[in-house]
Amino acid sequence: MKRLLQGYAQFRRDVFPEKKEHFHLLSELQKPDTLFITCADSRVVPDLILQTEPGDMFLCRTVGNVVPPHGYMPGGVSSTVEYAVEVLHVKHIIICGHSDCGAVKAVFDKRDLSRLPLTARWLGLVEPAWKYLAPGLDADPRSQYVGLIHANVQAQMANLKTHPEISRALAEGRLQVHGWFYDILTGAIEAYDERARRFRPLEEYAEEDVAGRS
Ligand SMILES: [Zn+2]
Repeated sequence: MKRLLQGYAQFRRDVFPEKKEHFHLLSELQKPDTLFITCADSRVVPDLILQTEPGDMFLCRTVGNVVPPHGYMPGGVSSTVEYAVEVLHVKHIIICGHSDCGAVKAVFDKRDLSRLPLTARWLGLVEPAWKYLAPGLDADPRSQYVGLIHANVQAQMANLKTHPEISRALAEGRLQVHGWFYDILTGAIEAYDERARRFRPLEEYAEEDVAGRS
């Protein structure tokens, strides 16, 4: 807690005054163009990794970057998605998984979660990831585990697309959905290429995307 209070004091003293104008503009309006959905893991810090500022991204964090499918329950994730698309009119939704994800590991290891009934139910939403596991992966557990983290990003992208406001926005061409994987060890991001059906370095994916649209 001490660390947090020191950080707050530093923010008030050094950071806020420097960005006062920016905060003034933001005080009555937000216009983020991206909804970033990622895991609750403390090691994934979107504003650090992407060097974004307050106001840049609408954020949603859930255990295992899970997005329940439409109709599952009217929970926080579904309402965040609905608000982002219908009110904020975000142009991009990024679902970002990460290396060493404990949520996916629990599913991968088929851990006994009987003492964590809510977690067990939530992680049931990761199970469909098995269907998306890339063919031809090395048989070693490490490759399979990383493969399942990738597959979970794809599974949650599919869940996201079951929401009517998402399919509508996609059909009307006013939204793009992206699947990312962040590696804590290297700091590198890979993006899922739907045409090539595999994850590729974000730099390559972004370059082609820009070239394809120009
Ligand atoms: Zn995680």
